[in-house]
Order: sequence, then C-alpha cells, then structure tokens
Amino acid sequence: MARFIFVTGGVVSSLGKGLSSASLSYLLQSRGYKVRLRKLDPYLNVDPGTMSPFQHGEVFVTDDGAETDLDLGHYERFSGVSAKKSDNITTGKIYNDVLKKERKGNYLGKTVQVIPHITDRIKEFIKNESSKEDFVICEIGGIVGDIESLPFVEAIRQFANDIGKKNALFIHLTLVPYLKSSDEIKTKPTQHSVKELRSIGIQPDIIICRSERSIPLEHRRKISLFCNVDIKNVIETVDVRTIYEAPISFFKEKLDIQVLNYFKLRSKKPVNLTPWKKITKIILQTKRQINIAIIGKYVELKDAYKSLDEALTHGGIENNVKVNLVRIDSERLKISEIKSKLNNISGVLIPGGFGKRGTNGKIEAIKYARKNKIPFLGICYGMQMAIIEFARNKLNLKKATSSEFDKKGLHIIGLINEWTKDGKKIIGTKTDLGGTMRLGSYDAKLKENSMIKKIYNKNLIKERHRHRYEVNIAYKEIFEKNGMSFSGLSPDGKLPEIIELKNHPWFIGVQFHPEFKSRPLSPHPLFSSFIKASKNHK
Ligand code: GLN
Repeated sequence: MARFIFVTGGVVSSLGKGLSSASLSYLLQSRGYKVRLRKLDPYLNVDPGTMSPFQHGEVFVTDDGAETDLDLGHYERFSGVSAKKSDNITTGKIYNDVLKKERKGNYLGKTVQVIPHITDRIKEFIKNESSKEDFVICEIGGIVGDIESLPFVEAIRQFANDIGKKNALFIHLTLVPYLKSSDEIKTKPTQHSVKELRSIGIQPDIIICRSERSIPLEHRRKISLFCNVDIKNVIETVDVRTIYEAPISFFKEKLDIQVLNYFKLRSKKPVNLTPWKKITKIILQTKRQINIAIIGKYVELKDAYKSLDEALTHGGIENNVKVNLVRIDSERLKISEIKSKLNNISGVLIPGGFGKRGTNGKIEAIKYARKNKIPFLGICYGMQMAIIEFARNKLNLKKATSSEFDKKGLHIIGLINEWTKDGKKIIGTKTDLGGTMRLGSYDAKLKENSMIKKIYNKNLIKERHRHRYEVNIAYKEIFEKNGMSFSGLSPDGKLPEIIELKNHPWFIGVQFHPEFKSRPLSPHPLFSSFIKASKNHK
C-alpha cells in the first residue's frame, strides 16, 4: 500500500507548497521510490478551466485532457511523471459528484452531509489509483483556517486514522517572518497556525518554515517546543535564487531523510543532485543573455504563462544562454511603437489566448517579425493570429479573420465541434463553456523535409491541446503556394497543427501547447530550437 503525505499551508498563501511537494517528490524518486503528486483545491469552480488567468494563473493541461491547477505543472517538471485527470480535484467537483449521486437516489434516502458524504468523496479521490505507488503526496490548496479548506483538512484527518497514522505523514508549511526594524525572526505566526491545525485534529509531523533568512537553532527549538515537533523535523526553506535550487536546498535540510525515517524506510539509492546543480549554475552564472518578447493579454500576472516561462528557460539551459522575458501587453501595444519595442528582441512569442482584445497588437507584431526575419513562435492563438496576418497581408485576403471574434468576415479560423481522437469521433457540446474544448494529447503527423520534422526528429508527435477553434484546411493550398507551409496535420489530414514559413530563418506556429511538456531535465525541442535561432539572430 502507498504511504500518504499531506501538505498543508499556514499563515499566508503562496509560500511554495507546490514547489516543496514537487522537490520532495524528486528526492524520494531519486532515492528509488515511486511517487504520485496530487492537488486538492478548495474553490467552488469544477476545474480552473473557466477561471481568468488574472485570477488563478495558468490553466495546466494534462495528457488525458484535464484542465488543472498550475501546481500540477511544477509537479511534472520536477518529478518527470505526467499528471492525470485523477490528480486534481476541487470542492466544486466533489459537490458536483455528490449531488449527482444524490439526484439518482444513490444515498438511499439518507440526509446528505459534509461529513461523511463530502469527506468520503474526498477520501475516495485521495486513494484512487494509488495501489502501485510508494508515496502519494497530496497538497491541500489555500491555508489552514480558511472556511473552504475545512472539509479537506477533516478528510485527511479521517484518512490518516483509517489507514493508520504510521502510513500517513502531515507536513505543514508556514511563514517565519523577519522583522527588519527590530532585526528579529518571529515564530509566533507559526505557533498560531499549528494551533489552528491542531484545533481541527491534526498534529503536524514536519514543519517547513519559509523564511527570508536562515532560522537560528534557538528559534527552531522554540518552534519544536511550542508546536510539539521533533527539532529534526523543523525544516527551513530560505528563498532560493532559482526554483531549480529547491531540491538541493531541501536535500541539505534532510527533508527526504526525515520523511523516510518517519515511515521507517531506507534510502534505496543515493540522491542524484547533479542535474539541478548544473541547471542552477547555468541559470545563475551564464553571461550571454537574450531578450524574448512575450506579447499577450495577461502579461501583468507572472503566473499567467507559468509553463511557457519555464519552457523558455529550459530552452536557454539547453543553449547555455540566459533568457530574459520581456512581457508586452498586446492590448496597449501601439503600431507606432512596435519597432522600438522589438528593437532589442531576439525572438518574438505569441502565447495562447482567448477573445478579441489585444488581437491587433499581436497581428502587427507578427507582421513585423515576419518581415524583419525575427525568430517567431506562435502558440495556439499565436498560430491562429499568424495565419490571419499572413492571409491579410500576403494573400491579400483583407477580411480574413476568426469566428471567435468576428462573426462576419472571411472565416479562415472557425469553431469546430467535431473531431477525431484515436479514430473515434468526438462531438463538443455547445451549451457549457467549461470542458467544451479539444483538450489533452493529440497526434500530429509531420511533413517530410520540413523544419518541424528536423526539430522533433520524428514522424508523429503527441502534444497537448486546449482550444475551440481551428484553421480551415481548405486554405492549405493557397497558403502553401505563397510560402507558408502546413507542416503538421492531424492524422486524418483535416486539422492544421503546425505552420512554418519558407523564406524566414525561424517562423513556426503550433495549434497545441508544447510548453506543458517541457521539463528542466529534458527541455522541449521546439523551445530549444527557438532559443537557438533567437541566439543566432542577435
Ligand atoms: N481562443 C483560441 C481557441 O479557442 C485559442 C485558444 C488557446 O490559445 N489556447 O481556439
């Protein structure tokens, strides 16, 4: 049976529970154990699919087509294990499941209640598909004390009781602030947060203290004493210079060893930290830098393009160059400013997006990159915009547009509600916004002698999708005659997946999101190639 590790947070949110869980997962895997990571989110949305990136950051997509919390991206990047639909759940989804069952009369006339029905459903989720794992690490979103997270905390308390406390471990991550004015480190917020956790029945086994500076022994003793935790299990996590240093820092603090000790397990192999050391060194010490412009609508919020930012960094690691991300707001981008804004830029990237706002800025920037031979990568919406730009300015189809934002015009890009997956027909529903997209991993066939085929060095690729609209294949011929090749298609040949320009050093658009599959230890070939071309540009 798997052992279960529950990670809760206290004092404030955004302390890095996801990163801590992901780092722990790497260390345990490196010691020879099989680990699965899961996220339980307390909000009421059924999934984050309909949430604005301003609210919630990026929506991460799994191979099996789940729209999930961005922490699952961290998990994949650190553990190398692809997440599944069954690895992320929200309060909304739990209630949805319970209420559906209630309507069917499956509760046999009983009063349906938070305890036991909601908590049972949470426990079912935690345990689901865990039999082949050595460890399941479950991160509880939000912080202890939030009304919303109560049923989750109650469920994990019960769960530990059900499987026996020796098979379940509680890690609590808190903030240990440093007060500049009095030059003091304060442990009181941690004490209060643990008190809160204990009041709902959970005694943490390990406390991870997030702090600006190293926590002296006397303060660790205080935390150990007041919070009733062995001093060896008071672990500090001081701000790292790059997130890829996190596994190294948790290793130094012996987090993994303390976890194994708790479960009375031995390390099967020594931890391999070499890749993280190498990456950290490249990120921190590489002198050569390039600027990549990301032109999108959500540039103000750092987490809105999380996987993309990471994938570009990975491309930099592969090419020994530091990638500076220059975020440009497409809504505010004036045509007259494009030249000056892109002056110091080595590559232009247009990420995924939705709706009309900001499209003009994107299209004009693409035109500039195409004409001035600046390396360009268009992702999903970015590819659709590149198609519109080419149609309008090169093919002289001035009315070319997408039915997503212009109901009239010439619909080179349009809504599709039927497509095939693994030979089976899929029909999208039109009534709900959530879950109506072509989601998850789909195959694409790459054209002989194309640039994309050289980059991937494969005939068939699998990449993750998240969109409702598609480029109309009927225009393939006219585009190809004029220099834009449709170099990747769905296996049935109906859906354009990749476009590339012939007379341009590096101009590629993809209908999918390659950023979701890039990992620091195996950078995605498309990003490596894009960064290489950008490095060569200037
Ligand atoms: N809005 C576009 C569509 O639905 C693109 C989506 C995206 O970029 N992920 O097709």
